Amino acid sequence: MSFNFTNYLAIKKQLPEGVAILAAAKTRTATECEEAISHGLKLFGMNYLQEGLALKNQVKSQAEWHFIGALQTNKLKTIVENFDLIQTVSREKELIELDKRAQDLNKVVPLLLEINSAEEDQKHGLAPKEMEAFIKKSSLFTHLEIRGLMTMGPAGREPSEMRPFFKLTKQLFEALKSISQDNLKPTILSMGMSDSWREALDEGSTMIRLGTVIFGERAPKN
Ligand SMILES: *Cc1c(COP(=O)(O)O)cnc(C)c1O
Repeated sequence: MSFNFTNYLAIKKQLPEGVAILAAAKTRTATECEEAISHGLKLFGMNYLQEGLALKNQVKSQAEWHFIGALQTNKLKTIVENFDLIQTVSREKELIELDKRAQDLNKVVPLLLEINSAEEDQKHGLAPKEMEAFIKKSSLFTHLEIRGLMTMGPAGREPSEMRPFFKLTKQLFEALKSISQDNLKPTILSMGMSDSWREALDEGSTMIRLGTVIFGERAPKN
C-alpha cells in the first residue's frame, strides 16, 4: 500500500483556497506519511494516542499533528504535550483538564469542538443546541483557544444524505463566529471524509479529513 498521489492531486485541484486536507493516518506507516509529505501534505490526524505517538516519532519530516479520536481525560496531558491541535473536545471536564495542562506547560492549546450533528446516542460530541452554553462555560479557560468545529455526521449514510448535518454544523460555525470571546478564534470547520468531502465542501468545510481515498483501503480491524 502506498500514498495515492493521483487521487491526492485530483482532490487538491478541486479545493478552493483556504481549504486544507488532513490525512487521517490511522493504520498507516511512516513511509506512507513521508511520501504524503513529499507531495505537499502537511497535516495529519490520529485517533489513538499510542499509535499516534509511535507514528509521529517515526515521521522525521516537519508536519502538523491533530488528535481526531475519542478523548479520555487521563490521556489529555500526553495529548497536549504531543499534538498541535485537538479536534474532538466536547465535555466540560475536558476543558478543565486541558486548561490545567496547558497552564502547566505555559502554552495555549488550540482545539475544535466536536458536534454530534446527527444527535446519535452512541456518538461523542456536543448536541447542536448545547453549543452556545458550552461556549459560555469555556470563556473561563484562558489557556485554551477554540479554533472552530468538527463533525463526523451520521455513520453508514449515503454521501448525499450527509448534507443536512454538514449544513447544520456550518450554521453553528457561523453562529460561533458572531460570538465575541477572548479565547474564541473560529477559522476551522472540519468536516468531510473520503466518501463525503465533495458534499462537505459545498456546505462550507475548510478542512476535509481523508484516509481511504489517499492511502487505500485499511486492513480490517482485528
Ligand atoms: C478515519 C477517519 C477519517 C477518514 O476516513 P476515510 O473514510 O478513510 O477517509 C476522518 N475522520 C476521522 C475522525 C477518522 O477517524
